[in-house]
Amino acid sequence: MTIAAAKKTTTARAIVNPATEEILAEIPDANSASVDKAVSAAKKAFESGAWSSKSPAERAAVIFKWADLVEKNLSRLAEMESANTGKPLKLARDGDIPFAVDNLRFFASAARLMEGSASQEYVPGYTSILRRDPVGTVALVSPWNYPLMMAAWKLGPALAAGNTAVIKPSELTPLTTIELGKLAQEAGFPEGVVTVVTGGEETGRALTSHPDVNMISFTGDTETGKKIMRQASDTVKRLHFELGGKAPFVVFEDADLRAAACGAVAGAFVNAGQDCTAATRLYVQESIFKKFSDILAEEAAKVRVGDPAKAGTDMGPLICAEQRGRVENFLSRAKEVRYLLGGKRPAGLKKGFYFEPTVVLGAVQDSELVQKEIFGPVACLLPFKTEDEAIALSNDVPYGLAGSVWTTDVRKALRAAKALRFGTVWINDHLPLTSEMPHGGFKQSGFGKDMSKHALEDYTVVKHVMADLSGLARKPWHYTVYGD
Ligand code: NAD
Repeated sequence: MTIAAAKKTTTARAIVNPATEEILAEIPDANSASVDKAVSAAKKAFESGAWSSKSPAERAAVIFKWADLVEKNLSRLAEMESANTGKPLKLARDGDIPFAVDNLRFFASAARLMEGSASQEYVPGYTSILRRDPVGTVALVSPWNYPLMMAAWKLGPALAAGNTAVIKPSELTPLTTIELGKLAQEAGFPEGVVTVVTGGEETGRALTSHPDVNMISFTGDTETGKKIMRQASDTVKRLHFELGGKAPFVVFEDADLRAAACGAVAGAFVNAGQDCTAATRLYVQESIFKKFSDILAEEAAKVRVGDPAKAGTDMGPLICAEQRGRVENFLSRAKEVRYLLGGKRPAGLKKGFYFEPTVVLGAVQDSELVQKEIFGPVACLLPFKTEDEAIALSNDVPYGLAGSVWTTDVRKALRAAKALRFGTVWINDHLPLTSEMPHGGFKQSGFGKDMSKHALEDYTVVKHVMADLSGLARKPWHYTVYGD
């Protein structure tokens, strides 16, 4: 390798189309000096008040304009997202990007509806006022599975609340976030309010350990979250973590089995299973196990795997060769299992990181296949006998992001929804989210919420302003009575 080539590999990264393996672009890795420049600009912008001191209505107007620009560029962004991630074009065009537009519009509106408790005289002679202030300069680190949507989930509330932001997309899928940054410029955000830095772990480390970053919002693997927690600890940053998942999908004997099987196929294979809420543990009541398996196999066989750009394609490739290798290694280590379907690369597709939709039988509850996030199109089909057992098995993982329960018995559904320790529980569906409602985990799936007014609150700090109305000169002993 020549010196020039070596230099190139450390400063720029090839961005690959996972369906064709072609190089789409070369994107530089920001070094710590570039990260420092971005954070300094964000800090300066925050302290200038150019953004945080705007009225909520003014901030909302800029975010609305930004959302309009994303919508205007929807086709182009969807094609770019599909080429960079390998997801079916229809998923990007009809799902991710319109949803991101809606998320931005929601936060533009929510900026004007910040809630707090009423100002009161809790202590005689004093008025207490509650403010929700922006946190300051926030670092946003996003994953590769829904690049533009994850950027919107983070930038929307962070900016609506008056913070300034530096966002680092995944090194595998930076293209649409870079475009989002350009559109932010066009929308009229003041200088330094939104900055995109590109690169991988090293860039992320520089950003998340930077002393002038006040808060980190991270979406990604639980193991990366643990590292970021350590990196953030020296300067005691606020953290907002959306981490991994291992969603249970519980089918009771009284469920509509066809609807449940279709839900399982969508839940397990959407985005080639590279979804933190993917239905990866299908717990099915013993009395209907065989019947449900047959319907599931029939429905899963209809999933069309192939070129993401084609209108009929339901499932594209995995993000990269390493990710497919990771999935294959999980399966090859699980010697005890059988396959209801899949388990290998599709025969006809020579290029691209494809893997068949896979349903595994015979995995045991404490095996890594059931306990760990595989992040590929692999679901385990597992039997249970009683409601209590279904709940116990569902909760028996370190994660707690999302899960679903399938039954026609309302009481059973609500009992399960209460007992499942997951941030979202669907009844007779699996996957849908909405801008108005929170998404976020229990346990090792993280803390803090995306979307909804709760996300907006997460990007603020509550401040108590206490005003003495009496004008009385107070003695030191005087204050102790108020703590009683
Ligand atoms: P990842 O953890 O490998 O990477 C995520 C981001 O972190 C990337 O931008 C990466 O460059 C950066 N990064 C890596 N090491 C870092 C470090 N030491 N310091 C700072 N930044 C660092 O995750 P991924 O593989 O891109 O995404 C898949 C994961 O994301 C899965 O675990 C999935 O469950 C999770 N995810 C969770 C949600 C949710 O809402 N909970 C949503 C989407 C994805």
